[in-house]
Amino acid sequence: MIIWAFPIPAHGGEDPGTSGNGIVEKDLTLKISQYMHDRLNDLGIENSMTRTNDETLSPSVRPGRTQGFYGKDNDVIVVSNHINAGGGDGAEVIYALRNSDRLSRLISDNISATGQNVRKYYQRRLPSNPNLDYYYMLRETPNNESVIVEYGFADTPADATFLKNNWENLAEAVVKSLATYIGVPYTPKVTGNVYVVKAGDTLWNIARNNGLTVNELKELNNLKSNALSIGQVLKISKDTGTNENNDEYIVKSGDSLYAIARKYNTTVDELKRINNLTSNNLSIGQVLKLKSNTIETPVTQNTYIVKSGDSLYKIANMYGISVDDLKKANNLSSNLLSIGQRLIIPSNANSEKVYTVKAGDTIFMGNNEYII
Ligand SMILES: [Zn+2]
Repeated sequence: MIIWAFPIPAHGGEDPGTSGNGIVEKDLTLKISQYMHDRLNDLGIENSMTRTNDETLSPSVRPGRTQGFYGKDNDVIVVSNHINAGGGDGAEVIYALRNSDRLSRLISDNISATGQNVRKYYQRRLPSNPNLDYYYMLRETPNNESVIVEYGFADTPADATFLKNNWENLAEAVVKSLATYIGVPYTPKVTGNVYVVKAGDTLWNIARNNGLTVNELKELNNLKSNALSIGQVLKISKDTGTNENNDEYIVKSGDSLYAIARKYNTTVDELKRINNLTSNNLSIGQVLKLKSNTIETPVTQNTYIVKSGDSLYKIANMYGISVDDLKKANNLSSNLLSIGQRLIIPSNANSEKVYTVKAGDTIFMGNNEYII
């Protein structure tokens, strides 16, 4: 049986969906869906998106598009991607009344593995007719295997931060679930100087496409023969294991978190935090981030949010730096501050100084923002 998949970026155009903490649902769901589309292509799973840009789609057009592509049968999987709002934290998966919970369970498990809390996976009935699904995309995709994935709450700061930093991991969790569900071999996303062998590849074409000779490629990977297997991970540059920016590492046989942390001048705790690892276990081929991909501020920079009653002098004093250094780091031309303003604390600040957090303070720890 051929299975087609539909990553659906919900909302779009004049319908932005929910928003909060710098997240606009229609934009983030488009990024998530685009990511899924690319990764499903990588894995050889045929798929289409209902929209590929910021397009307004009326509710009736969206299921119409899925059926226009692949029809109404149960060999089509529809994944409707959403961001939640309304207070709460964590992901939710909703599946159609006609379907079993197997796909939802897989998605929930794989989302949990990213470090995101999964509140529940469930079905919801229309109050006026309990034989029908509550949600339009489940109700109007008659025989398709349809799920709605709510990745987290835009209006909950901790969830929003998680979404901004981990949306690719969350999308990958669904890709992995789809591959498992369909029975297609899953290979993790690899970037940088490695290549994952696909059907039809030869050493010769891989070498040529990467500017190497066959001998260089074999040497680089300690290959004794020309045999390749699908899914095999090959180094394609002498700068082993990591890409040019040195921000990812592919786990090899014999690696430990400790050894990797030491090699890249970081700590086991930091690696676990960046990668949302709950244990020290690694698997071969696993991709570890070496740096957090924070959006607003680099990890090494401390930031401070101005509160009522603050002055430049008070803040500078708190971090053991001069007012001038603080102004310079933030390109401030006057001493005026506004509440909620975000200040960069320059790295020469004395990290020994301890600031006691009071209720209502926002503190930044790396790329995670916590409201106390
Ligand atoms: Zn939505």
